[in-house]
Amino acid sequence: MYFDAFDENITGLKGIGDKTAKLFNKCQVYTCGDLLGYYPRGYDLFEAPRRACDLKENCINSVRLTITGHVTKRYVRSLSIVAFEAADETGKVRITFFNAPYLANSLKSGTNHIFRGIVRKKGNFFCMDHPKLYKDEEYAPLIGKLMPRYPLTKGLSNNTVLKSVEKAFYNVGRIHEFVPADILERLGLMSYSDALMGVHFPKDQNSLENARRRLAYNEFLQFVIKLRLLKKNTEDVPNTSPMIEVADVARLTEQLPYKLTGAQMRAFEDIMADLSGPSVMNRLIQGDVGSGKTILAMMALLTAAANGYQGALMAPTEVLAAQHYENFREMIAKYGLTALKPALLVGSLTAKDKKEVQRQIAEGEVNCVIGTNALIQEKVSYKNLGLVVTDEQHRFGVRQRGALAGKGINTHVLAMSATPIPRTLAIILYGDLHISIVDEMPKGRLPIKNCVVGPSYRPTAYKFIKDQVEKGRQVYVICPMIEEGELDGVENVTTYTETLRSSLPDSINVQMLHGKMKNTQKDEIMESFARKDIDVLVSTTVIEVGINVPNATVMMIENSERFGLSQLHQLRGRVGRGKEQSYCIFINSSDDEDTAKRLDVLNKSNDGFKIAEEDLKMRGPGDLFGVRQSGELGFKLGDIYHDSDLVKESAMDADRILASDPDLSLPQHDVLRELMATKSSVLVDFTTL
Ligand code: ADP
Ligand code: MG
Repeated sequence: MYFDAFDENITGLKGIGDKTAKLFNKCQVYTCGDLLGYYPRGYDLFEAPRRACDLKENCINSVRLTITGHVTKRYVRSLSIVAFEAADETGKVRITFFNAPYLANSLKSGTNHIFRGIVRKKGNFFCMDHPKLYKDEEYAPLIGKLMPRYPLTKGLSNNTVLKSVEKAFYNVGRIHEFVPADILERLGLMSYSDALMGVHFPKDQNSLENARRRLAYNEFLQFVIKLRLLKKNTEDVPNTSPMIEVADVARLTEQLPYKLTGAQMRAFEDIMADLSGPSVMNRLIQGDVGSGKTILAMMALLTAAANGYQGALMAPTEVLAAQHYENFREMIAKYGLTALKPALLVGSLTAKDKKEVQRQIAEGEVNCVIGTNALIQEKVSYKNLGLVVTDEQHRFGVRQRGALAGKGINTHVLAMSATPIPRTLAIILYGDLHISIVDEMPKGRLPIKNCVVGPSYRPTAYKFIKDQVEKGRQVYVICPMIEEGELDGVENVTTYTETLRSSLPDSINVQMLHGKMKNTQKDEIMESFARKDIDVLVSTTVIEVGINVPNATVMMIENSERFGLSQLHQLRGRVGRGKEQSYCIFINSSDDEDTAKRLDVLNKSNDGFKIAEEDLKMRGPGDLFGVRQSGELGFKLGDIYHDSDLVKESAMDADRILASDPDLSLPQHDVLRELMATKSSVLVDFTTL
């Protein structure tokens, strides 16, 4: 009723034809509401023009220059190139335009312009390709303004997104408020409508931060309300799947090539106390990357199986699910764990295979189901589900967690997460969970050697990669983008794979991996990387979570400046998992001093908790869009560290609202109730994570 217009298809907007709509669909934008929730990934600030000597490499700069010398025009095949030099009293810049031959006539030697665009250095020269041109009087009113930069895909321009968002606002009309006025006043938050507008079309940095805060509050409030509504159904559920300690687990741990750490043993004791206790388990295992959480999952699932129950292990990505499955199968064979009968259930199975697995689950032929979202789909019915383990818990939303737990009658839930969330926040965000912390790393690991370097270090890095591969090791290279043209000045997986292939000997097998590939293709790539058929894997952050290939010893991260420190720490956690010395090369493509300082934290510490704290301390409000922790619990703008005050406030507000109106049925909560039910992605959509 209040948000109906949010659900209208974008094809109804003027100027969005089938072709543009398809491009938007590729970015998961289908409705007007999706467009309003398609937040910029950053903003360009129109600064006062710089002097040539103050230009910053690889950033957007505005500079006021006089065209010196000849404006030349030439053709390379059908491509026209207009080029000239321009200068001020402090230095000169080479400027080039492609396919704009008319400029050769309109740009005259001796005239002044403001040039705005990305500045690169070629040799000793500053260069700008295709800068935007402004007259002084055009530029002056823009100074201090923020231009949104949207996430793009090939063929979809920033301007198209901007125009489409404008139209969506127009089409949607009035945006209803759903948070009571007294709350907004107490927290000094702007209206929902102003906040949405303010995040797409900010007046200045200050109002942008206010808009972001309001939308962050929305995310937290909705999250906590969902959590509370869910908790009502699960609180103090008696343990009707009681389990006892089994000899199978001891047999497993005795045969492992390592001894469990004290922290792992304590966490398992907690788990056993829950499984055999009076109420159903709801436990979060929190432990840094590489602290050895997978073996705990296996011990718990083995316990369930030997007690006659089915168990499920849910992973956030298909790649990770497939890896867990292979790992389990190997260990079952190696250690004779006959009680455990695993099956892989993921979206990319053929319909026939899926049906067969579903039958095996329903009839109890398998007792350890490993998979992704497909696990919680309605068609899957378990014979006697006793335990659900979710790996990388922070990647799942509340709804998913609840939906799977709802499969068994009183299912035990074990959630595992590498995200270092301070205990006070964890209690709010994971409300219903007890927490065990694995705060001890396996012994005998060599600490990862780190370096933060500029792009000029690449040739050295490639040589290092070559040496490591020749020693039999494997390498990850991370780029932020998938394909060319998504964002200027940022490396993409597709082009980079080609570059690496031509820079490294032919004998080195370089392959790529990214989220837009078909699931079957992703699995194949990951499996052949695990089998050592691939030497160098160029990937987006899809490999961020959970992947375990101990033979990989080098991690090189391009455009490190674009990631949050905690995310970089997670990425780095993919190496340093075996006995060999591992290395992490952070390429910093910005010449910003604060960025260098921030990245230096990674140089100094390998401790996820410390890194998260430092990250928080060093970030100013303006940084949030660029370096925000990616995907914590699925919040788009909310940052649980930076906005920890709002997390706490929203939890209090949610409790107050629900205390007065437990199922949101009062008329003053009409809008809120509808918002909680709508699918529009202006909300955190927990189902698509
Ligand atoms: P994470 O906590 O990041 O999920 P994993 O469970 O993937 O970590 O474990 C990382 C690596 O450490 C694996 O290769 C695993 O076999 C190994 N490992 C786990 N526990 C220990 C231990 N106590 N001692 C030595 N190695 C261990
Ligand atoms: Mg893991």
